[in-house]
Amino acid sequence: MPLLRDIKGTLQPFWITFRNMLKKPVTVQYPEEKRQPFPRYRARMVLTRDPNGEERCVACHLCSAACPVDCISMQAAEKEDGRRYAAWFRINFARCIFCGLCAEACPTLAIQMSPHYEICNRDPLNLVLEKEDLLIEGGGQDSGYNFYQHAGIGVTQPRGAGKQEKPPVDVRDNMP
Ligand code: SF4
Ligand code: SF4
Repeated sequence: MPLLRDIKGTLQPFWITFRNMLKKPVTVQYPEEKRQPFPRYRARMVLTRDPNGEERCVACHLCSAACPVDCISMQAAEKEDGRRYAAWFRINFARCIFCGLCAEACPTLAIQMSPHYEICNRDPLNLVLEKEDLLIEGGGQDSGYNFYQHAGIGVTQPRGAGKQEKPPVDVRDNMP
């Protein structure tokens, strides 16, 4: 009946309000009271190190290419042994939307999301963090992973020197 439905529709919100008035408030008095984020909470990024303590980042630019708001920039450099690293590495957190695409794209697990969410600042320039601000001492997640041991120059061999490989073809030989 429409009348009963209308009465129910009028009284139900009052009942819900009354019921919740008797419950304990759930308001968190931030910043005096801080909540522990969930372990997989994604906030400010960090740059991690491999188990040898070396910087994992090889300045491949994949994270900056994946970033939808273009807030990562860097300059690649090379050590004497041929190992690449970022001469400088910068993230503008005033633009970052914490989507995590940079961490997904990183082949070396260098850039990782951390649960550190307290980075608000009135001056946007203070939200531009350099490599020194981002680099941590440990390896973060998968701290035992050493990209350089798997795919770096330490395990490479001349092309065609593997057991099941043939010597590389000289494409110029195929030219008429
Ligand atoms: S979390 Fe997203 S927006 Fe922020 S730096 Fe990474 S890719 Fe860019
Ligand atoms: S953080 Fe990862 S993806 Fe970005 S440049 Fe360094 S190695 Fe490449």
